[in-house]
Amino acid sequence: MAKRHWYTGLSGACKVPRSLLGWWYEISPSAFLDHYAVAPDRICTDCAKAARLALAAESAPKPSDIVWPKPRPISEAPIKRCILGWIPATDECKAGWELLHYSVSATEWHDNAGVAHEPTHFLPLPPEVM
Ligand SMILES: [Zn+2]
Repeated sequence: MAKRHWYTGLSGACKVPRSLLGWWYEISPSAFLDHYAVAPDRICTDCAKAARLALAAESAPKPSDIVWPKPRPISEAPIKRCILGWIPATDECKAGWELLHYSVSATEWHDNAGVAHEPTHFLPLPPEVM
């Protein structure tokens, strides 16, 4: 029995020439896979594979879906953990992000070299692995 192939709108999903229009489905990848689930022996496996890949690409996260953490005021920063602190430009330094920890005794933020900074905002770091 002739197999049904998947036509994506621009070309066929497999290398079979589209000479027999009746054997091609021009439908969404999920609809094509529904046909494959019902009668896999009647569906071209290369086309089913292409439909599966197309479906996975559709559901993959897009760059616009990614949510970046927003900087928060330094007053909300946890003082028992390291933070990524935003340090505004000074006469000596350009503005930038610096890994900082809070010195309770000095009541100020220090970098790894022990230099004090006055960050205005922070980004929480991932939880520490125990
Ligand atoms: Zn095919």
